[in-house]
Amino acid sequence: MLNFNRIMTSIAVEWMLQKHVTVVGGAYGLACDLVRCGLGSLTFVDFDRVDASNPARQDLYPGDTGRLKTEAVAEQCRRINPQIEVECYSADFCSISLDEFDHLFGHTDLFIHAADFVPAQARGNIESLRLGKPAMWIGMYAGGRAGEIVYHVPGVTEACYRCICGQRYAAFNRGMRKISSEGGTILDLHLLDAIAGQIAVGILTRGADNRMGRIIDALGNRNLLQVKIDPDYTLGDKDIFAEYLGNHPANFSFSTIALPMEREHDCPDCSRFRHDVEDAA
Ligand SMILES: [Zn+2]
Repeated sequence: MLNFNRIMTSIAVEWMLQKHVTVVGGAYGLACDLVRCGLGSLTFVDFDRVDASNPARQDLYPGDTGRLKTEAVAEQCRRINPQIEVECYSADFCSISLDEFDHLFGHTDLFIHAADFVPAQARGNIESLRLGKPAMWIGMYAGGRAGEIVYHVPGVTEACYRCICGQRYAAFNRGMRKISSEGGTILDLHLLDAIAGQIAVGILTRGADNRMGRIIDALGNRNLLQVKIDPDYTLGDKDIFAEYLGNHPANFSFSTIALPMEREHDCPDCSRFRHDVEDAA
């Protein structure tokens, strides 16, 4: 058993030990960090194998080349905490049948989506709404120059992933097939993962009497976080950080803005799965 003595004032480890997280298509370093924070069990979903370019930018090792990523990272989790329960599911997240989905993931407490493929992100939204489970999506912007974390917690946040990222669905329908992570380094990834990890522990221990247990209620409906990494980052010609931060010293780099999001009333996923919200309206 890991010795958690020195993190107990910040994290309700006894709660974390009871929790299960499903990680789809990446976020391996983050998953390992959650194990260090006391996470009790994990399921990895990914069909990729480790290739030669992975160790330079993901938490994978050259000796794992050719192995399934899920199995390589499961082994790392077991090295951190031999008591961790890890399941690996080497399949395309989009092709899992509904029955199988509920059987495999019905018990999960949080879905973490790190796949850079719109249909996988879209399915993640639908299924988490259908099951009434929290979910988060971690995305790197072009070149690793900025990134985002979107999350949804039933009963806390209003907007779902599709409400917030509807433009991405539209771009996919216009033929854009992949959000390129080319140029993103391990430093960019770890910066984003560290912030995502705070949100993940916040969701899993929400209500605990410590700083992590308070973070989700403190954020409220600010469930789009954007992280500036390159000081010169702009989205096209739009300086999204200057819009909020102007030339404040916080608008140099490594800053996070947490934006309040509202439900889109024509969001197909919300209208299909969130009748509670509609009834209340
Ligand atoms: Zn929605």
